[in-house]
Amino acid sequence: MTVIDTRKCMYPNCFENNVKSHAISRSISLESIAEDSHLYSFVPRQNSRDTKQPWLKRVSTNKATRHHCFCDTHEEEFKNIDNHEIENTKDVLLQVYRSLCVAFAQERSSMINLHRLNDAKFYRDISAEKAEEFLRGSEYQELIPLLTEPKALEIVQKKMMFLLSEKIDGECVVFENLAIRVKLLSDTIESKEIPYNELQTISFESFDHTIFYYKADFQIPVALNTIQHGRAGSTEVRVYTSVTPYPESTVIISMLPNSLLGDQVLVDKINDYFSSEHKVVKYVESVMSTSDGWFVKESVIKKWQKKRKNSFVRTACS
Ligand SMILES: [Zn+2]
Repeated sequence: MTVIDTRKCMYPNCFENNVKSHAISRSISLESIAEDSHLYSFVPRQNSRDTKQPWLKRVSTNKATRHHCFCDTHEEEFKNIDNHEIENTKDVLLQVYRSLCVAFAQERSSMINLHRLNDAKFYRDISAEKAEEFLRGSEYQELIPLLTEPKALEIVQKKMMFLLSEKIDGECVVFENLAIRVKLLSDTIESKEIPYNELQTISFESFDHTIFYYKADFQIPVALNTIQHGRAGSTEVRVYTSVTPYPESTVIISMLPNSLLGDQVLVDKINDYFSSEHKVVKYVESVMSTSDGWFVKESVIKKWQKKRKNSFVRTACS
C-alpha cells in the first residue's frame, strides 16, 4: 500500500520536516480582525450519523489558518506577505501558492484520517457488503460467492484499500504539479502594483488556471482559505479562494481551472460579484456558506446571534 508522507516540506525539492504554516499572515492580517488575539471559526459537528450541527469555536490567532506545510527555512519565503500587505501581482501569486499548499495539506490530512490510509491494518474494517458492492458489475463479479472465505475477503479488502490510496496519491501528484507551476510563475512574473476596487485577472499562456483578485479599500472582518469542489462537465474541479483582511483593506483571490471559464453565465456572475461594495461582501458570505475554512471577528458573531437567533447560537471556547 502507498503511505502518503505528510511530514515533508511542500517546497519543491525540499526533504526537511515541515512546521505548522499560516495560510493568512498572522501579524498583519489575522490580528487586524482579532479581539484579544482570538477569532471565531465554524466547526461543523457530527450530531448524528448523517447530519452536522453548525458550531462556532473561539480559536487563538496562533492556530487559525494553520497547517503542516513548509519547513522553517521555506517559511521565510513568505516574509514579504507576512509583514506587508499584498500590493503587487508577485505578492498575489505568492499568496496563491501559500494558500493552496495550506488548503491542500488540510484536505489531504482529512482524507488520510477519514480512510485511515496510513494504517496498514485498516483494510480489515471494510465490510463484506462493501467488498460485494465493489465486485458487483466488475469483471471479478463471479468471486462474490467466495467472499464468505476469509482469505478471499482479505484479498478484495486489500485491493480496495490499494485503489483508494492510489487515487489519493494521484490527486497529490496533480496538486504538486499545480503548486510547482504557481511557484515558478510567482518567481518569474513581471510584477505590477494592484489597484483598489477593480477586479483583475492573471493568466498565462500554457497555464490551465486563471487567477482573479480584488483589493477592496475597506475591511471585511473575515480570514478565509478554502478549496471548493465543483464539476465542469464530467470532470471534478477545484476552486481555491482566500480572503486576507487588513486594517483598512481586504484582498480576495480565487484561482479556477480554465475549463470553468467556458461557462459565460459563471463569468458574468464573477463580474457581477465584484461590481459594488455590497456585492463583494455578499460574495465573501456566499463562499463562507459553502466552506468551513474561515475565521471571523468576535463582534461579527455577536451581531449574527442577535439577527439570526436560531442559527449559529451554539458557541464553544478553546
Ligand atoms: Zn523546506
